[in-house]
Amino acid sequence: MKCKRCKATAVVSLPSHNTGFCPDCFKLFFSRQVERGIHEQKLFTHDDRILVALSGGKDSLALMLELSRQGYNVTGLHIDLAIPVSSPAARGVVERFCALHGLPLIVKEMANEGLAIPAVKERLTRPICSACGKIKRYYFNKTAIDEGFTVLATGHNLDDEVARLFSNTLRWDAAYLSDQGPGLDSEDGFTRKVKPLWRLTEFETANYAFLMGIEHHYAPCPYSKGASFTFYKTLWQQLEETMPGRKLDFYQGFLERGRPAFAHVEATTGMTLAPCETCGYPTSSGSTCGVCRIRDAVANPKD
Ligand code: SF4
Ligand code: ZN
Repeated sequence: MKCKRCKATAVVSLPSHNTGFCPDCFKLFFSRQVERGIHEQKLFTHDDRILVALSGGKDSLALMLELSRQGYNVTGLHIDLAIPVSSPAARGVVERFCALHGLPLIVKEMANEGLAIPAVKERLTRPICSACGKIKRYYFNKTAIDEGFTVLATGHNLDDEVARLFSNTLRWDAAYLSDQGPGLDSEDGFTRKVKPLWRLTEFETANYAFLMGIEHHYAPCPYSKGASFTFYKTLWQQLEETMPGRKLDFYQGFLERGRPAFAHVEATTGMTLAPCETCGYPTSSGSTCGVCRIRDAVANPKD
Protein backbone atom coordinates (compact mmCIF):
# COMPACT_ATOMS: atom_id res chain seq x y z
CA MET A 1 0.00 0.00 0.00
CA LYS A 2 1.20 3.53 -0.79
CA CYS A 3 0.94 6.59 1.46
CA LYS A 4 -2.12 8.62 0.51
CA ARG A 5 -0.24 11.91 0.77
CA CYS A 6 3.28 11.34 -0.57
CA LYS A 7 3.07 7.90 -2.31
CA ALA A 8 5.97 6.46 -0.25
CA THR A 9 5.42 3.01 1.28
CA ALA A 10 2.60 3.16 3.83
CA VAL A 11 3.34 1.72 7.28
CA VAL A 12 -0.01 2.44 8.96
CA SER A 13 -3.23 1.30 7.33
CA LEU A 14 -6.41 3.08 8.45
CA PRO A 15 -9.50 1.34 7.03
CA SER A 16 -11.80 3.70 8.98
CA HIS A 17 -10.43 6.60 6.91
CA ASN A 18 -10.06 4.38 3.83
CA THR A 19 -6.36 5.23 3.65
CA GLY A 20 -2.77 4.48 4.71
CA PHE A 21 0.24 6.65 5.58
CA CYS A 22 4.05 6.60 5.70
CA PRO A 23 5.55 7.51 9.14
CA ASP A 24 5.86 11.29 8.56
CA CYS A 25 2.44 11.65 6.94
CA PHE A 26 0.85 9.57 9.72
CA LYS A 27 2.32 11.97 12.33
CA LEU A 28 0.80 14.84 10.35
CA PHE A 29 -2.56 13.02 10.17
CA PHE A 30 -2.43 12.50 13.97
CA SER A 31 -1.64 16.18 14.62
CA ARG A 32 -4.46 17.31 12.38
CA GLN A 33 -6.96 15.02 14.09
CA VAL A 34 -5.92 16.41 17.50
CA GLU A 35 -6.17 19.99 16.19
CA ARG A 36 -9.58 19.30 14.66
CA GLY A 37 -10.81 17.69 17.89
CA ILE A 38 -9.69 20.76 19.90
CA HIS A 39 -11.25 23.28 17.52
CA GLU A 40 -14.50 21.43 16.76
CA GLN A 41 -15.31 21.11 20.45
CA LYS A 42 -13.69 24.44 21.47
CA LEU A 43 -11.64 22.60 24.11
CA PHE A 44 -9.01 25.29 24.85
CA THR A 45 -6.79 27.91 23.28
CA HIS A 46 -3.11 28.83 23.36
CA ASP A 47 -3.92 31.20 26.27
CA ASP A 48 -4.92 28.34 28.57
CA ARG A 49 -2.62 26.79 31.19
CA ILE A 50 -3.17 23.08 30.63
CA LEU A 51 -2.47 20.41 33.25
CA VAL A 52 -2.07 16.99 31.58
CA ALA A 53 -2.73 13.90 33.73
CA LEU A 54 0.19 11.51 33.01
CA SER A 55 -0.36 7.91 34.09
CA GLY A 56 2.71 6.55 32.31
CA GLY A 57 0.58 4.95 29.59
CA LYS A 58 1.08 5.72 25.90
CA ASP A 59 -2.11 7.77 25.50
CA SER A 60 -1.35 10.44 28.07
CA LEU A 61 2.32 10.70 27.00
CA ALA A 62 1.32 10.96 23.33
CA LEU A 63 -1.17 13.70 24.26
CA MET A 64 1.41 15.67 26.25
CA LEU A 65 3.99 15.47 23.47
CA GLU A 66 1.56 16.43 20.73
CA LEU A 67 0.12 19.40 22.66
CA SER A 68 3.63 20.69 23.38
CA ARG A 69 4.55 20.29 19.68
CA GLN A 70 1.48 22.39 18.83
CA GLY A 71 2.76 25.14 21.14
CA TYR A 72 0.24 24.74 23.96
CA ASN A 73 1.23 25.67 27.52
CA VAL A 74 1.34 22.21 29.15
CA THR A 75 2.47 20.85 32.53
CA GLY A 76 2.31 17.16 33.43
CA LEU A 77 0.77 15.80 36.63
CA HIS A 78 1.62 12.30 37.85
CA ILE A 79 -0.07 10.71 40.85
CA ASP A 80 2.30 8.22 42.53
CA LEU A 81 -0.13 5.67 44.01
CA ALA A 82 2.60 3.79 45.97
CA ILE A 83 1.61 0.41 44.51
CA PRO A 84 4.65 -1.94 44.62
CA VAL A 85 6.44 -2.47 41.29
CA SER A 86 3.77 -0.81 39.15
CA SER A 87 3.93 2.74 40.63
CA PRO A 88 7.76 3.15 40.58
CA ALA A 89 7.77 1.86 36.98
CA ALA A 90 5.06 4.33 35.91
CA ARG A 91 6.69 7.25 37.72
CA GLY A 92 10.10 6.43 36.20
CA VAL A 93 8.65 6.48 32.67
CA VAL A 94 6.88 9.81 33.26
CA GLU A 95 9.95 11.45 34.82
CA ARG A 96 12.26 10.29 32.01
CA PHE A 97 9.74 11.42 29.37
CA CYS A 98 9.39 14.94 30.84
CA ALA A 99 13.17 15.29 31.33
CA LEU A 100 13.85 14.12 27.75
CA HIS A 101 11.41 16.62 26.23
CA GLY A 102 12.09 19.45 28.71
CA LEU A 103 8.46 19.47 29.91
CA PRO A 104 7.41 20.62 33.40
CA LEU A 105 6.09 17.92 35.75
CA ILE A 106 4.28 17.91 39.10
CA VAL A 107 4.31 14.63 41.09
CA LYS A 108 1.83 14.03 43.94
CA GLU A 109 2.85 11.20 46.25
CA MET A 110 -0.11 9.41 47.81
CA ALA A 111 2.18 7.88 50.46
CA ASN A 112 2.73 11.45 51.77
CA GLU A 113 -1.01 12.15 51.72
CA GLY A 114 -1.93 9.14 53.88
CA LEU A 115 -3.49 7.51 50.81
CA ALA A 116 -1.04 4.83 49.62
CA ILE A 117 -3.31 2.53 47.58
CA PRO A 118 -2.23 -0.76 49.27
CA ALA A 119 -3.11 0.76 52.68
CA VAL A 120 -6.43 2.02 51.33
CA LYS A 121 -7.18 -1.43 49.89
CA GLU A 122 -6.68 -3.01 53.34
CA ARG A 123 -9.28 -0.73 54.92
CA LEU A 124 -11.98 -1.12 52.26
CA THR A 125 -14.65 -3.72 51.80
CA ARG A 126 -15.59 -2.44 48.32
CA PRO A 127 -13.40 -2.83 45.20
CA ILE A 128 -10.24 -0.72 45.33
CA CYS A 129 -10.55 0.67 41.78
CA SER A 130 -13.50 2.91 42.59
CA ALA A 131 -11.65 4.43 45.58
CA CYS A 132 -8.43 4.72 43.57
CA GLY A 133 -10.34 6.47 40.75
CA LYS A 134 -11.92 8.85 43.26
CA ILE A 135 -8.50 9.69 44.78
CA LYS A 136 -6.96 10.33 41.34
CA ARG A 137 -9.85 12.58 40.24
CA TYR A 138 -9.60 14.49 43.53
CA TYR A 139 -5.87 15.22 43.09
CA PHE A 140 -6.21 16.03 39.37
CA ASN A 141 -8.87 18.57 40.15
CA LYS A 142 -7.35 19.93 43.38
CA THR A 143 -3.93 20.41 41.78
CA ALA A 144 -5.46 22.20 38.78
CA ILE A 145 -7.45 24.57 41.01
CA ASP A 146 -4.73 25.13 43.66
CA GLU A 147 -2.01 25.83 41.08
CA GLY A 148 -4.03 28.07 38.76
CA PHE A 149 -4.42 25.80 35.71
CA THR A 150 -7.43 26.61 33.54
CA VAL A 151 -7.89 23.15 31.99
CA LEU A 152 -7.25 19.52 32.97
CA ALA A 153 -6.53 17.27 29.96
CA THR A 154 -6.64 13.47 29.98
CA GLY A 155 -5.49 10.96 27.34
CA HIS A 156 -8.89 9.26 26.81
CA ASN A 157 -9.16 8.16 23.18
CA LEU A 158 -12.06 7.31 20.88
CA ASP A 159 -12.17 3.67 22.08
CA ASP A 160 -12.45 4.82 25.72
CA GLU A 161 -15.18 7.30 24.85
CA VAL A 162 -17.18 4.85 22.73
CA ALA A 163 -16.96 2.15 25.44
CA ARG A 164 -18.20 4.64 28.05
CA LEU A 165 -20.97 5.92 25.79
CA PHE A 166 -22.03 2.35 25.00
CA SER A 167 -22.14 1.47 28.70
CA ASN A 168 -24.17 4.60 29.53
CA THR A 169 -26.52 3.88 26.62
CA LEU A 170 -27.05 0.23 27.62
CA ARG A 171 -28.26 1.53 31.00
CA TRP A 172 -29.95 4.62 29.44
CA ASP A 173 -28.21 6.58 32.16
CA ALA A 174 -29.60 10.00 31.31
CA ALA A 175 -27.53 11.90 33.89
CA TYR A 176 -24.25 10.54 32.48
CA LEU A 177 -25.42 10.91 28.88
CA SER A 178 -26.18 14.57 29.50
CA ASP A 179 -22.60 15.45 30.29
CA GLN A 180 -20.47 12.89 28.44
CA GLY A 181 -18.22 14.47 25.85
CA PRO A 182 -14.70 15.69 25.09
CA GLY A 183 -15.17 18.91 27.11
CA LEU A 184 -16.80 19.39 30.50
CA ASP A 185 -17.12 22.96 31.73
CA SER A 186 -15.77 24.09 35.08
CA GLU A 187 -18.32 24.55 37.86
CA ASP A 188 -18.56 24.83 41.66
CA GLY A 189 -14.87 24.24 42.42
CA PHE A 190 -14.34 21.72 39.60
CA THR A 191 -11.91 22.60 36.84
CA ARG A 192 -12.68 22.36 33.11
CA LYS A 193 -11.90 18.83 31.82
CA VAL A 194 -10.99 17.96 28.24
CA LYS A 195 -10.12 14.88 26.17
CA PRO A 196 -8.26 16.14 23.06
CA LEU A 197 -7.64 12.60 21.67
CA TRP A 198 -11.37 11.91 21.25
CA ARG A 199 -11.10 11.59 17.44
CA LEU A 200 -8.23 9.07 17.59
CA THR A 201 -8.44 5.33 18.29
CA GLU A 202 -6.21 3.35 20.62
CA PHE A 203 -4.54 1.84 17.53
CA GLU A 204 -3.80 5.26 16.04
CA THR A 205 -2.47 6.61 19.34
CA ALA A 206 -0.30 3.51 19.83
CA ASN A 207 1.16 4.00 16.34
CA TYR A 208 1.90 7.65 17.05
CA ALA A 209 3.57 6.75 20.36
CA PHE A 210 5.65 4.08 18.60
CA LEU A 211 6.69 6.35 15.72
CA MET A 212 7.60 9.16 18.16
CA GLY A 213 9.75 6.76 20.21
CA ILE A 214 7.68 7.18 23.37
CA GLU A 215 8.64 4.69 26.08
CA HIS A 216 5.60 3.70 28.09
CA HIS A 217 4.68 1.84 31.21
CA TYR A 218 4.37 -1.96 30.96
CA ALA A 219 4.05 -3.13 34.61
CA PRO A 220 0.28 -3.58 35.04
CA CYS A 221 -1.40 -2.71 38.32
CA PRO A 222 -1.73 -5.93 40.38
CA TYR A 223 -5.29 -4.92 41.35
CA SER A 224 -6.61 -4.55 37.80
CA LYS A 225 -9.16 -7.11 36.69
CA GLY A 226 -11.09 -7.50 33.44
CA ALA A 227 -13.41 -4.50 33.51
CA SER A 228 -16.64 -4.40 31.53
CA PHE A 229 -15.12 -1.59 29.43
CA THR A 230 -12.55 -4.05 28.08
CA PHE A 231 -15.40 -6.29 26.91
CA TYR A 232 -17.21 -3.37 25.26
CA LYS A 233 -13.98 -2.34 23.53
CA THR A 234 -13.60 -5.86 22.10
CA LEU A 235 -17.20 -5.78 20.84
CA TRP A 236 -16.63 -2.43 19.19
CA GLN A 237 -13.40 -3.62 17.63
CA GLN A 238 -15.29 -6.46 15.95
CA LEU A 239 -17.93 -4.03 14.70
CA GLU A 240 -15.26 -1.65 13.40
CA GLU A 241 -13.53 -4.43 11.49
CA THR A 242 -16.76 -5.23 9.66
CA MET A 243 -17.90 -1.62 9.32
CA PRO A 244 -14.83 0.70 9.29
CA GLY A 245 -15.56 4.19 10.60
CA ARG A 246 -18.54 3.19 12.73
CA LYS A 247 -16.86 4.17 16.05
CA LEU A 248 -16.28 7.78 15.03
CA ASP A 249 -19.75 8.00 13.42
CA PHE A 250 -21.41 6.69 16.57
CA TYR A 251 -19.55 9.10 18.85
CA GLN A 252 -19.86 12.14 16.59
CA GLY A 253 -23.55 11.39 16.04
CA PHE A 254 -24.01 11.34 19.80
CA LEU A 255 -22.25 14.71 20.21
CA GLU A 256 -24.32 16.31 17.45
CA ARG A 257 -27.74 14.74 17.99
CA GLY A 258 -27.79 12.49 21.06
CA ARG A 259 -26.30 14.67 23.77
CA PRO A 260 -28.49 17.75 23.08
CA ALA A 261 -31.53 15.52 23.66
CA PHE A 262 -30.33 14.89 27.24
CA ALA A 263 -29.29 18.50 27.98
CA HIS A 264 -32.42 19.15 30.07
CA VAL A 265 -31.52 16.27 32.45
CA GLU A 266 -28.48 18.00 33.85
CA ALA A 267 -30.53 21.05 34.77
CA THR A 268 -33.02 18.97 36.73
CA THR A 269 -30.61 16.59 38.49
CA GLY A 270 -28.16 19.21 39.78
CA MET A 271 -26.76 18.05 43.15
CA THR A 272 -26.17 20.47 45.96
CA LEU A 273 -22.46 20.79 46.64
CA ALA A 274 -20.85 22.17 49.80
CA PRO A 275 -17.17 22.50 50.76
CA CYS A 276 -15.72 19.56 52.74
CA GLU A 277 -15.23 20.64 56.38
CA THR A 278 -11.73 19.13 56.42
CA CYS A 279 -10.21 20.06 53.04
CA GLY A 280 -12.64 22.49 51.39
CA TYR A 281 -13.15 20.28 48.32
CA PRO A 282 -16.72 20.44 46.92
CA THR A 283 -18.74 17.44 48.03
CA SER A 284 -22.33 16.23 47.78
CA SER A 285 -21.85 13.51 50.37
CA GLY A 286 -22.31 15.36 53.69
CA SER A 287 -19.86 17.39 55.73
CA THR A 288 -16.70 15.43 54.84
CA CYS A 289 -15.68 14.52 51.28
CA GLY A 290 -15.12 10.91 50.15
CA VAL A 291 -11.32 11.25 50.01
CA CYS A 292 -11.06 12.72 53.54
CA ARG A 293 -13.23 9.80 54.77
CA ILE A 294 -10.88 7.30 53.08
CA ARG A 295 -7.83 9.06 54.58
CA ASP A 296 -9.47 8.95 58.00
CA ALA A 297 -10.24 5.22 57.64
CA VAL A 298 -6.58 4.51 56.77
CA ALA A 299 -5.25 6.62 59.67
CA ASN A 300 -7.71 5.35 62.29
CA PRO A 301 -8.41 1.65 61.76
CA LYS A 302 -11.46 0.62 63.82
CA ASP A 303 -10.39 -3.01 64.30
FE1 SF4 B 1 -6.05 2.10 40.68
FE2 SF4 B 1 -4.89 -0.17 39.95
FE3 SF4 B 1 -7.54 -0.01 39.95
FE4 SF4 B 1 -6.11 1.35 38.14
S1 SF4 B 1 -6.28 -0.89 38.34
S2 SF4 B 1 -7.84 2.15 39.34
S3 SF4 B 1 -4.30 1.91 39.33
S4 SF4 B 1 -6.19 0.13 41.74
ZN1 ZN C 1 -12.17 16.61 52.08
